[in-house]
Amino acid sequence: MKLRSVRGTHDIFGEEIDKFNFISNIVSKNANLKEYKEIQTPIFEFSDLFAKPLGEHSDVVLKEMYSFEDRNNEFLTLRPEYTTPMIRAAITNNLLNELPLKIFGIGPMFRRERPQKGRYRQFNQINFEILGTKDFLADVELISLSNNILNELLPKSNIKLHINSLGDKKTLIDFKNSLTKYFDIHKKKLSEESIKKIETNPLRILDSKNEEDVEISLSSPKIYEYLTDEAKKHYEDLKRSLNILEINFEENANLVRGLDYYCNTVFEYKSDNLGSQDTLLGGGRYDGLIKVLGGPDIPGIGWAAGIERIALLMESEKKINSTIHIAVTNEKFIDYFLYLQKYLSENRIPYYWNYKYNLKKSFSKANTSSASYIIIIGENEFNGDFFTIKNLTTGEQKELKLNQIFNHLNDKSR
Ligand code: AMP
Repeated sequence: MKLRSVRGTHDIFGEEIDKFNFISNIVSKNANLKEYKEIQTPIFEFSDLFAKPLGEHSDVVLKEMYSFEDRNNEFLTLRPEYTTPMIRAAITNNLLNELPLKIFGIGPMFRRERPQKGRYRQFNQINFEILGTKDFLADVELISLSNNILNELLPKSNIKLHINSLGDKKTLIDFKNSLTKYFDIHKKKLSEESIKKIETNPLRILDSKNEEDVEISLSSPKIYEYLTDEAKKHYEDLKRSLNILEINFEENANLVRGLDYYCNTVFEYKSDNLGSQDTLLGGGRYDGLIKVLGGPDIPGIGWAAGIERIALLMESEKKINSTIHIAVTNEKFIDYFLYLQKYLSENRIPYYWNYKYNLKKSFSKANTSSASYIIIIGENEFNGDFFTIKNLTTGEQKELKLNQIFNHLNDKSR
């Protein structure tokens, strides 16, 4: 059999791994600024954990989960999303004693979707959650955090924040009833997929991409008319705050989000440059979910962003090079090179070495990798007890003693 990777999976290396690490660093920096604590959970959990809250009718549960039976007759599932495992971890590790709890995590998720550009079966997500407050300012904080991170990562990209409110339980019951009635009347014009959802989950018809469905949805009842006074106030407070913070947004009445447990605020960032998989980040409030999972009856809100989709939009100039290359012209100088290695490591100076005792090949590698410096070790250097350092941007070349290298590299005036 030909050696290959599993459909929908991808290896991350080269420029992409540089982007991934860059993204993780920016995320961790922003998380630290706001005192979010990192959580890493196992990639598999008991299947029940996802089956209950994601809802009987959610696509994820119906056909997208990777589930298997373990040898002791237990059913396990590779996590399709991070909110549920994070809440499970907060409950089982007693992290809910002091509220609100602010947590974040980065890691792989698994969904058996049809692979295409920006859509994989194993992909990586960034997740942020605040558990234990109903305050609309938590919604504002999380949206503003996502805004800061995306602006830092994608300063030149044209991305748009869409927001909507799904109201509270009463809103959703009333709204679903009226949608079911409306779509039932227009049944003939709907896609087959959507017809199946009229009774079970009419909200999902609103985010169908099928052209006829979109057309019918344009004149469907709008959720805003069903918001209770409390839900309306939450939404208005949120919008006012975003305006004060100068965070641009667009109200999108058809934004419903995939999973059943959302309420009040829902939001997504979309880009025109991602093709059909245009959502970069999505989130919302899920009051009630923590209780469903067996925890206390406290509210929660969070968002998830796909690292692969952010990387697709990032420009390649974000590439971080290994800036110093080493050229050793002959194996005779290995011991001398070891002194240099020790010095560079002690001073935390990153370097690259290609195991080729050949000046020409080392220069050619340094040039194709856009290295900034090359340090040469040859006959002259060895005999004279110095190292030659060439700045590959300016062409300037210097002969330096070992203990002068650090200051030379850090001299910003050059
Ligand atoms: P969701 O949990 O479906 O709201 O997804 C949150 C984010 O994860 C999306 O906005 C995407 O950026 C990303 N994402 C979701 N599914 C996939 C997938 N199959 N492949 C790559 N990224 C994905």
